[in-house]
Amino acid sequence: MSRQGGAAKTTTFELLRLRPEDEVEDGRITLIGKDVDEMDDGSSTALAIIVDVYGKKMEEDFEGVLERRIHQFINYAEGAWHTGQRNLNWIRLSRSSVKAGLTFRHFGDILITKLKEEFGGLVSRIQVTIVTDKDEVQRLLPEAMEVYGRRDARLAGLTDESVDTWYTCSLCMSFAPDHICVITPERMGLCGALNWLDAKASKEIAPTGPNQPIVKGECIDPVKGQFAGVNEVVYEMSHHKIERFNAYSLMEDPMTSCGCFEVIVAMAPDMQSVVVVNREYPGMIPLGMKFSSLAGSVGGGKQTPGFIGAGRKYITSRKFISADGGFLRISWMPRELKESMRKALDARARELGEPDFVDKIADETVTTDAEG
Ligand code: SF4
Ligand code: ZN
Repeated sequence: MSRQGGAAKTTTFELLRLRPEDEVEDGRITLIGKDVDEMDDGSSTALAIIVDVYGKKMEEDFEGVLERRIHQFINYAEGAWHTGQRNLNWIRLSRSSVKAGLTFRHFGDILITKLKEEFGGLVSRIQVTIVTDKDEVQRLLPEAMEVYGRRDARLAGLTDESVDTWYTCSLCMSFAPDHICVITPERMGLCGALNWLDAKASKEIAPTGPNQPIVKGECIDPVKGQFAGVNEVVYEMSHHKIERFNAYSLMEDPMTSCGCFEVIVAMAPDMQSVVVVNREYPGMIPLGMKFSSLAGSVGGGKQTPGFIGAGRKYITSRKFISADGGFLRISWMPRELKESMRKALDARARELGEPDFVDKIADETVTTDAEG
């Protein structure tokens, strides 16, 4: 693999935003910085993918839904591999794809064509700006972060109990055929890109699309978060592989993973606590392995009791593995993850009456083995 742009190494983000009609020139592709053919073999680059759209029926509430498709559409290009989302995306291009002439400008073509194809009723103008110039990516990042924050804030106040409908996401079935994400107000999709409002908007935009409502139905277990209606849908969508689904447990009938998770939550070997590790963390985890090996066994659409994939935001949700002890069970997290989520983690700890809790979570500077 060569020429990567991504969270593990460089500053990157992808953002789709609704713009006024006169600010979007349909079909325009702008590249700021070097294209693939000007990069050295094996090198990495900063990367911003900005998709500006306009359409009479387009709403700001739909931005996240269309933005998530960047993942799907870029993966359509042969030799291009996209994972993650928002400012944690990561793209790799194979050597053969580069040899065959694949460039960042082609990403623009692909995105414009596919977005028009799928959302033609919604957007009539699309322009794509791709930035590989490091300083320019840095300069643009705060605006993107603000948009992501605004999208997540719309959810505040919504709880799993306050709605009778949750949503599926089957977008990743092309990678993991039996996997289905269950999206609730307090648990976003494990990729971290789609929350309950996004799923709801997605259903409005594409009635037969990947996000379908699940009427929760009879509550079987309020603590584990098990509902008859959810069980039924998960059973059908997983091709009869998954019979029961608990929204709030990682030990018993947990949600499956496709592979897009931002973090993995895993029961520690002594079963006393959980460790949380993010995709970007390259070192050893107190489970005797690295994220990459762990990810191999957690993904693929199978239930793996003791392990779940999750979006970062789920860590501070009130429903975070609440059937297994919740937030206060966390004993270890990589330092960078802890610091980048510091505010939200501290707020959640205060809410639980343990204001110093986050300082008690160990990281790699304290130990990387389970005994430690
Ligand atoms: Fe949808 Fe889940 Fe895939 Fe995210 S990880 S795109 S929520 S199926
Ligand atoms: Zn996925």
